[in-house]
Amino acid sequence: MEIFDTLSHLGYGELHFGRDEQSGLRTIVALHSTRLGPAIGGSRIRAYATEAEAIDDVTRLAQAMTYKAAVARLPHGGGKAVLIAPPGLGTPAFGADKRTALFRAFGRFVEELAGHYITAEDSGTSIEDMDVIRGVTKNVTGVDPSRGGSGDPSPFTALGVRRGIEACVKFALGRDSLEGIHVALQGVGHVGYHLCRELHNEGAKLTVADVDPLKAERAHREFGAAVAPLDDIFAVACDVFAPCALGSALNRETVPRLRCRIVAGAANNQLAEPAMGMALMDRGILYAPDYAINAGGLVNVAQEILGYDAEKARARTLKIHDTIFEIAERARRAMTPTDIIANKMVEERLSRAGR
Ligand code: NAD
Repeated sequence: MEIFDTLSHLGYGELHFGRDEQSGLRTIVALHSTRLGPAIGGSRIRAYATEAEAIDDVTRLAQAMTYKAAVARLPHGGGKAVLIAPPGLGTPAFGADKRTALFRAFGRFVEELAGHYITAEDSGTSIEDMDVIRGVTKNVTGVDPSRGGSGDPSPFTALGVRRGIEACVKFALGRDSLEGIHVALQGVGHVGYHLCRELHNEGAKLTVADVDPLKAERAHREFGAAVAPLDDIFAVACDVFAPCALGSALNRETVPRLRCRIVAGAANNQLAEPAMGMALMDRGILYAPDYAINAGGLVNVAQEILGYDAEKARARTLKIHDTIFEIAERARRAMTPTDIIANKMVEERLSRAGR
């Protein structure tokens, strides 16, 4: 792997490698951009097959964070950290003491980056790990609410997605309310569940599908949602299709089957390939770019850095409405897919910020 070629291709940035003999820490921190402020992004722990795979993962994820933070107008760049899982992690032999030592060592490394990187929880890491990191550096978010943390990001992500859906409904359907709007949700886990509540409270009609039947059943019980078989959710005749499960929901097989006017949901990396943005536009479907509509959780966590204030985080999350509306307007004017317009808006913001 040619590391500098990778960095140059993704528009980097810095890549920091850290190791600690005693705890077994091996970490890579990618700071994609600090033009708009300190880089923010989670730390994930995983067993990577190769170091090249870890570098590939961390560099791409950090780049995505730059875009998400910039489109949400946060005073932050994008960063990410990976910890290469030490042998035995997750087994009884790798006890709580070893995990604490690992995250203390990681926290010291974050501290050495002198505020250029602010970490958070991500896949494989927990609020308890963030509390350990907090013991050695203040450059961490997602700590326990009793220590000034912002708590579960999912309700904020869902709030932002609801506001994004409202913007799309106004733009594409000329409606100022969600009363009677039919939304089909793929996935009613953490975010999907809260999104159901948000939409239900606004009078929307819901259809849901989830691989976990208990979750779909809960949405039916609490919000009167109809439950669809997993594969049928793409073809539900509805106003809005909301992907809230895994990435790549919008692909060559599913896009032609959609029977909606709007795609707007929480999942990351919804487009299986860039061409799907154009495919949606060609079908007359308004697509709310994933990283723009699902930024509420990041907005919430970023608020922690300034001293957590839920009301301020909420007020900022509500603005996702205007961001999505602006993207839709510019896309219509330029006759260009919305995902390309969102990228362009971020690149304009970054170039205005200078170096
Ligand atoms: P989650 O794991 O709690 O929920 C995902 C749900 O999707 C689960 O209930 C799962 O059973 C279901 N699911 C998985 N495959 C499915 C399929 N093929 N069909 C139907 N349902 C399926 O995760 P989450 O935290 O709710 O996040 C959902 C998505 O939103 C993810 O892509 C995540 O990256 C993204 N996201 C989450 C947040 C957040 O605040 N949690 C923020 C930004 C983006």
